[in-house]
Amino acid sequence: MAKIKYKVKIDKEKCIGCGSCVAVCEGNFDMKDGKAIAKKAVSDLPCNKEAADICPTQAIILKKA
Ligand code: SF4
Repeated sequence: MAKIKYKVKIDKEKCIGCGSCVAVCEGNFDMKDGKAIAKKAVSDLPCNKEAADICPTQAIILKKA
């Protein structure tokens, strides 16, 4: 199956630092100063989508790259 490449952006204003994105997608998310950061701005990990779906504030914006 072809992997989808995403551009991953996190809206820092919306992020409440819950850590859910890191829990489901440690491969591309980390916490810094209480907010989520994307390890890679462009990533083909399928769990990016899971992280965006689970984020309670819709702070993770994915665009196909
Ligand atoms: Fe922030 Fe959303 Fe990640 Fe929670 S799941 S840390 S609100 S980006």
